[in-house]
Amino acid sequence: MVANGLYRAIKNRVGKAIRRFGLIAPGDRILVALSGGKDSWTLLYILESLRRRSPVPFELVPAVVDPGFPGFETDRIEARCRADGFGFHLERTEARRIIEERRDPRKSYCAFCARLRRGALYNLAPRLGCTKIALGHHLDDAVETLLLNQFYVGTLGAMPPKLVADDGRNTVIRPLVYVEERQTASFARANGFPLIACRCPVAGDPDTKRQRVKALLRDLGREDRRIKRSLLRSLHNVQPRHLMDVRLWPFDHDGPGGGSPPGAAP
Ligand code: SF4
Repeated sequence: MVANGLYRAIKNRVGKAIRRFGLIAPGDRILVALSGGKDSWTLLYILESLRRRSPVPFELVPAVVDPGFPGFETDRIEARCRADGFGFHLERTEARRIIEERRDPRKSYCAFCARLRRGALYNLAPRLGCTKIALGHHLDDAVETLLLNQFYVGTLGAMPPKLVADDGRNTVIRPLVYVEERQTASFARANGFPLIACRCPVAGDPDTKRQRVKALLRDLGREDRRIKRSLLRSLHNVQPRHLMDVRLWPFDHDGPGGGSPPGAAP
């Protein structure tokens, strides 16, 4: 692995997230969800570098969930993992077939696919004896999700660095939450990671809502480079008294509470 300034910068940011959010505990066996993209490669190699130096013992279990799109070269992901001394697990799924048979065409392809893949991961982790699942979402993903939820879902939330899944069995961690996408791209290039596309029909589509939000942030970032950092800071600096969710208010209020805001469907 190329150990330059970029490597140190990413490692420091990952270390900071691990410490701040308590992402790793002694004895953890962490399933690292590999997609073949720059982010999950970066996640795996940085976690391995930290693991080797860590006084806290933990293990890494790289795994790929294959959604079943023809042409997804999982063998190249496996070859790189094995060449660098990692284990490897491939979980084949019927996600593609299920999406094509059951998806409501008015709804997002990606959202359905991501749900199916997440379900496969949640089943896989306990089977492999893993205590946590590490995902490669980074700072850009977190702030884009914050805006997507506000623009299109009507909720105020992003991607938490640590989350106990709804099934109560799995804990998801996102150690790259302070790392920028441009850093994972440069790191992947510097280390010659094989970038393997999942070959799904929407990957790279510039017209998805996420791509449009990404373009918006890019444009705003040309005027002020601090935009993304400021959005990230806002997630650490929530002011419930200045919001309208009465469940978060620190004092009793006289109204009925809950209910729909003006203009929302009842
Ligand atoms: S980009 Fe493709 S593989 Fe990834 S979640 Fe969306 S549909 Fe699934």
